[in-house]
Amino acid sequence: QLPPFDYQPRPYNGPSADEVFQKRKKFLGPSLFHFYQKPLNIVEGKMQYLFDETGRRYLDAFAGIVTVSCGHCHPDILNAINEQSKLLQHATTIYLHHAIGDFAEALAAKMPGNLKVVYFVNSGSEANELAMMMARLYTGSLEMISMRNAYHGGSSNTIGLTALNTWKYPLPQGEIHHVVNPDPYRGVFGSDGSMYAKDVQDHIDYGTSGKVAGFIAETIQGVGGAVELAPGYLKSVYDIVRKAGGVCIADEVQTGFGRTGSHYWGFQTQDVVPDIVTMAKGIGNGLPLGAVVTTPEIASVLATKIQFNTFGGNPVCSAGGLAVLNVIDKERRQTHCAEVGSHLIQRLKDLQKRHDIIGDVRGRGLMVGIELVTDRKDKTPAKAETAVLFEQLRELGILVGKGGLHGNVFRIKPPMCFTKDDADVGFFLIYLYYLQLNIVEGKMQYL
Ligand code: PMP
Repeated sequence: QLPPFDYQPRPYNGPSADEVFQKRKKFLGPSLFHFYQKPLNIVEGKMQYLFDETGRRYLDAFAGIVTVSCGHCHPDILNAINEQSKLLQHATTIYLHHAIGDFAEALAAKMPGNLKVVYFVNSGSEANELAMMMARLYTGSLEMISMRNAYHGGSSNTIGLTALNTWKYPLPQGEIHHVVNPDPYRGVFGSDGSMYAKDVQDHIDYGTSGKVAGFIAETIQGVGGAVELAPGYLKSVYDIVRKAGGVCIADEVQTGFGRTGSHYWGFQTQDVVPDIVTMAKGIGNGLPLGAVVTTPEIASVLATKIQFNTFGGNPVCSAGGLAVLNVIDKERRQTHCAEVGSHLIQRLKDLQKRHDIIGDVRGRGLMVGIELVTDRKDKTPAKAETAVLFEQLRELGILVGKGGLHGNVFRIKPPMCFTKDDADVGFFLIYLYYLQLNIVEGKMQYL
């Protein structure tokens, strides 16, 4: 039973889930992307809940892939979007419009140091494309360093930064080197951040010309399975990279806007100030929006050519983005993430003590990973079991994400209005136990 929720979805008269699915398969191209075995047709959303065509309610513990930061159809954000849409949806950034400046000012106010120049784009991939271009122009080097297990986008340059093979095509990678990611659970150096940093130094010394353009990292690896970087890693790496002439880029596409609870930006959990910060997803609560924030000095490399983006900073997206920033502050979402997140992580850690299938529980705030293994010592990924549980959770009305290198990590990254009750009552804490029994007793329906 999910926690009570006072909201009535509208009657739905659209096509059935199967019809929608058939159309999607026919017209939207093939992909390895994981659908539920029984297609799920979402027709409405309210805060941390989604509704299918029958009116059934689901707890959304994945937030449209960590995107719906403040909740589905949040009234303040809807209001800001609607009011702006009635006046002007789009003209061009060749003309002035106050929404883009207001939003840029509010965003810059959230950044530390000299990170005060904002560029708006439409997605995370675009943000990382622009960041990489800036780093290369600024340093005069092409050589980028990214980490294994990283996801930074699917566009032709960012796919080179990404290092997860299910997303990769055999295409030119373009001067990108991947260092070992400092994964405290699976990494060869455990949670010793300085050893992984040494690997970056070695890589620069032996694998590059010695002068690099930049280093990019998610401050918690998202698609890679909510992998928190070993403590101290970024501080050491930023020093190393800057000594090699490079700039440091923090990809905050998943970790920004208070989601980690302890800090507004993920990079602050490692006590560093990047040279370039990229963001998307949660910035627009579902609107297509991304941004790059950097210093005036780095931004100056773009001054001699036209840097232009037709939709980036469009008035409707800017009004929506500004409303998101205001909601996060007004509703104290960062503190909320810290409280609910630590409650959730504690509950999961308790569960881990009792169930061997849970190899690792990790994360911060409402960015949580649960890694399932068939053998704790060997850390053999419990791929089949994860797939079964994923389906069964959906049957129970709980939608989670799946990820990690082996697809054996549940990613719990709900809208930031997710409550302790959602974590307790709706959550799979109780069910995981029964589901595990099902697996042990060989009752897996989906294998
Ligand atoms: N960076 C990170 C950390 C991401 O998680 C993603 C998307 N999963 C991207 C970049 C790319 O964003 P988009 O899909 O909006 O292009």
